[in-house]
Amino acid sequence: MLRNDMLDQWDREHFFHPSTHLAQHARGETPNRIVAGGKGVFIEDRDGNKLLDAFAGLYCVNAGYGRLEIAEAIAEQAKELAYYHAYVGHGTEASITLAKMVLERAPKGMSKVYFGLGGSDANETNVKLVWYYNNILGRPEKKKIISRWRGYHGSGLVTGSLTGLELFHKKFDLPLDRILHTEAPYYYRRPDAAMSEADFVAHCVSELEKLIAREGADTIAAFIGEPVLGTGGIVPPPAGYWEAIQKVLQKHDILLIADEVVTGFGRLGTMMGSDHYGLKPDIITIAKGLTSAYAPLSGSIVGDKVWKVLEQGTDENGPIGHGWTYSAHPIGAAAGIANLKLIDSLGLVANAGETGGYLNKAMKDVLGGQDHVGDVRGEGMLVALEFVADRQKRAFFDPSKKVGPSVAAALLKRGVIARAMPQGDILGFAPPLCLTRAEADQIVSATAEAVKEVLG
Ligand code: PMP
Repeated sequence: MLRNDMLDQWDREHFFHPSTHLAQHARGETPNRIVAGGKGVFIEDRDGNKLLDAFAGLYCVNAGYGRLEIAEAIAEQAKELAYYHAYVGHGTEASITLAKMVLERAPKGMSKVYFGLGGSDANETNVKLVWYYNNILGRPEKKKIISRWRGYHGSGLVTGSLTGLELFHKKFDLPLDRILHTEAPYYYRRPDAAMSEADFVAHCVSELEKLIAREGADTIAAFIGEPVLGTGGIVPPPAGYWEAIQKVLQKHDILLIADEVVTGFGRLGTMMGSDHYGLKPDIITIAKGLTSAYAPLSGSIVGDKVWKVLEQGTDENGPIGHGWTYSAHPIGAAAGIANLKLIDSLGLVANAGETGGYLNKAMKDVLGGQDHVGDVRGEGMLVALEFVADRQKRAFFDPSKKVGPSVAAALLKRGVIARAMPQGDILGFAPPLCLTRAEADQIVSATAEAVKEVLG
């Protein structure tokens, strides 16, 4: 086995890490962690630390670490047939079976699944499908996509543009044109403290209506949104938001893409986030929880309405000119099948609702009254704490104080991994769906200590 100090040196010299301060990392100023193993909700690093991973990697290891059922399915598939492509009608038992299993778990009205590798490429697919759809319908002007500020949809060119976070645009010349952003359904940060939830929903609707009027409905193809904002701060929408937004979209013949990369396959305590909020999407993005990250796999679930037009398009133009070498990779598909079976047999969707609800309540009870905790919010197995300098005024801390990252670091010292979200002093929790109540208690008590250490 390679020595840790050698790996550390190679890491600094050769490894281009995503979402990392490159200069500080190369200079050895930021810590690195070499992760070596995992079991249940815990990971172990090469220094022998055992850590409770309360963010499930990047909210993706939903079934938990060390699931031999999934590992064995991957090994069996690799031995039998590691790869064949899915072009011109090819498939494998695994890819065909998984498509059927996904549709059995999707809301009504969905027709087919296109498999990719990660959430970003799935959303790239979705945007291309929407453009193709409107070209086939003879509406070449209807191409713009509306996303929300604080939405997260990936970090490619189009998907990084859809993402409504400054860090993902700055110095990359994004967003590209055709991509528009509207108000986030972020009630805690409503423009006027006196607004009720209903007032704020009306405000979000009015902002959307204004944007559509300004651009012209005949130029807008689709609206994309996560059922619960994830990377933008773990923000469940106010009551009635999705119902009101969907009415506007229907009125203007704008398609709805539900980005369920985080919420798909149980995280909110329902199979899909669309079930939870009554969404009737035209396309659904899935990734992360589809395989619990045991292999890279994503999907675009296409609804009947869009599918019919895609079929018409190929009758008129020939095969669809869209495919990845690794679309429907058999190893990913085998992991997906084993993972979805495990989610069923372990009852993880119900546990996400029950133990997630317990975690949310405990976090509120223990931390909700603290001076610098402005908001405790969440849904299912998603929780966030938002830290503020002044509760009454909902005043931000000076960003240079790095309050969110400091609390995350204090929590890490206590053996728990949470994530300082990229915009604002928000600490996010998204544990594996197999979390127990005892583990939830451990997260809450360590968080209370960490908050006390940093904020008094
Ligand atoms: N959509 C959402 C809602 C996500 O949370 C993410 C990843 N955090 C993505 C898309 C992009 O997925 P990936 O990182 O696999 O490309």
